[in-house]
Amino acid sequence: MAWDFETDPQFQKELDWIDQFVTEEVEPLDHVLGFPYEVQNPQRNALVKPLQAIVKERGLWACHLGPELGGQGYGQVKLGLMNEILGRSKFGPTVFGCQAPDSGNSEILAHFGTPAQKAEFLKPLLNNDIVSCFAMTEPQGGADPKVFRTRAERAGDEWVINGEKWFASHSHVASFYILMAVTDPEAPEYNRLSAFIIPADTPGIEMVRNMPVGFHGTPSHAYLRLTNVRVPADHLLGKQGGGFVVAQTRLGGGRIHHAMRTIGQVKRSLDLMCERVLSRQTQGTLLADKQMVQEKIADSWIEIEQFRLLVLQTAWKIDKYKNYMMVRKDISAIKAIMPKVFHDVAARALHLHGSLGVTPDMPFAEQVIESFHMGLADGPTEVHKVTVARQLLREYQGTDGLFPTGYVPTLREAAIAKYAERLEREVEAAA
Ligand SMILES: Cc1cc2nc3c(=O)[nH]c(=O)nc-3n(C[C@H](O)[C@H](O)[C@H](O)COP(=O)(O)OP(=O)(O)OC[C@H]3O[C@@H](n4cnc5c(N)ncnc54)[C@H](O)[C@@H]3O)c2cc1C
Repeated sequence: MAWDFETDPQFQKELDWIDQFVTEEVEPLDHVLGFPYEVQNPQRNALVKPLQAIVKERGLWACHLGPELGGQGYGQVKLGLMNEILGRSKFGPTVFGCQAPDSGNSEILAHFGTPAQKAEFLKPLLNNDIVSCFAMTEPQGGADPKVFRTRAERAGDEWVINGEKWFASHSHVASFYILMAVTDPEAPEYNRLSAFIIPADTPGIEMVRNMPVGFHGTPSHAYLRLTNVRVPADHLLGKQGGGFVVAQTRLGGGRIHHAMRTIGQVKRSLDLMCERVLSRQTQGTLLADKQMVQEKIADSWIEIEQFRLLVLQTAWKIDKYKNYMMVRKDISAIKAIMPKVFHDVAARALHLHGSLGVTPDMPFAEQVIESFHMGLADGPTEVHKVTVARQLLREYQGTDGLFPTGYVPTLREAAIAKYAERLEREVEAAA
């Protein structure tokens, strides 16, 4: 019987190595470097490239990808256990070659790209020589792909693209964008969009604004305007009208990878919370001795464990079925619970640190804002809850009866009919 919650000892050794390496070499980068994606920054490269070389040497580079693309093909469970550690540091995923959105973009390039597209865009992306951007959301709405207006029209052997994109993360440092545009406005709703690869230096792209998240972050989410942007016909990624399929392929993995990294963040908050309450006294006892403080610790641990088990079980299902469509409900469930666990644990940690907790000297205020990022990017929580409910309801059907199938009088009547004879025999025998 297979029902196993243990990591195999060989891989545990790798995890122990990753843990120590991240603690000693990678986490300190967060305090001396700004933005992990500035691949043109010589200071960043002087510190990051040697660490990336060590990771490659150890065979832990780009583990989200199969060996044919230079990864280990570890699958989602192993990746999950790794990402729990990498998620503690802003630079962790970059040092290990599995940072969003490049990881998802490389997956779709690997999946839908032509050999020429792979040579030009995928190869340098996998090596982190360049970084990329995924531009789908538009100013008038992001949660509903049916409202997108950016238009791509065929003119000879080129596509001409006009429109606006919103919150195009990392576009200021990206070498290319994977951009969704309407190619077939009259087609059924989910066949209107197509995906394009657009080199960032293509004329006609204007950055209207570049926004940070919260007050202290690096501005890295751009409002883009595209005016008569021309790309060759072969810059279509996947089929014409197949943009939705391309996006879904990317988002399934992207969502669970965010969740894996979030586990790293919330575990860190819990560690800091526990350390603090065991260090600080008030009214004659440690904070750790107060029951309302203990409740915060207990709730945080319980929520993290529930979340982690759901993430790892979903990762296991992805490895088993090798089909994201078969785990849509599970991934949406993770996506829906992630911001709440993240927010609640970070908020408790912030609160238990008192005034210190609200300052940028501790990570919690940033984490609380980041929890809202997790609730919005790749689709808002409400949309994912609707997916969970719809998928779940497909497993059920209504009843024609006047009363529900759990109506006790009906159940009792049926049980009496089933056992009446035997019960009567028992009564007679006892008499
Ligand atoms: C930090 C960050 C990074 C991002 N990076 C990218 C990126 O790189 N590329 C990209 O294309 N996009 C990116 N996004 C955009 C993200 O995908 C959108 O914010 C998201 O899809 C929601 O779209 P919106 O912001 O337009 O909100 P809206 O679509 O206006 O939704 C606003 C709110 O309305 C409610 N709502 C929406 N739909 C429903 C519904 N069906 N039922 C009930 N309530 C609903 C929800 O509360 C939702 O939060 C990023 C967002 C953030 C915050």
